[in-house]
Amino acid sequence: MPKHVIASVIVSALVWWWLRSSAAALACFLMGVFIDLDHIVDFIYNNRRHFRFHRFFVAFEFEVMENIFVFLHSWEFAVIWLALLLCVPDVRQPVVLGLFVGFVTHLGLDNLFNRHARWAYFLFYRLRHDFVAKYFYGAREYRKRLKHIRCRG
Ligand SMILES: [Zn+2]
Repeated sequence: MPKHVIASVIVSALVWWWLRSSAAALACFLMGVFIDLDHIVDFIYNNRRHFRFHRFFVAFEFEVMENIFVFLHSWEFAVIWLALLLCVPDVRQPVVLGLFVGFVTHLGLDNLFNRHARWAYFLFYRLRHDFVAKYFYGAREYRKRLKHIRCRG
């Protein structure tokens, strides 16, 4: 989360410099940070029996969840969005561009720094595996998380 706030501040400043639009810069910042709100759906779904909010951040960093949806974390949306930006001139508004840059930046950072399966951030990949978290984590990350849980007892 802090990395997204820092990255979004920097990228939003660049968006402002590029488009000279405060609204576009703000849109970029908000999109870059708040895509992660989709984690709340996953957390509630996985913890529907024993809901404890203080475990929210620990769950995403270290625990093994049953299912991961993260619907907004999908490169497919970026591709569709890009196609719209290229093909439909009316879509090319500063705010829409700002939102797009924030979205791509967030997804790119997650893709680079979260050591999950190669295709984890594709909706079709997650759908194909019925959103089973093991496939999202990837083999190495999955083993690491299992070990972490065992060490804690
Ligand atoms: Zn994210």
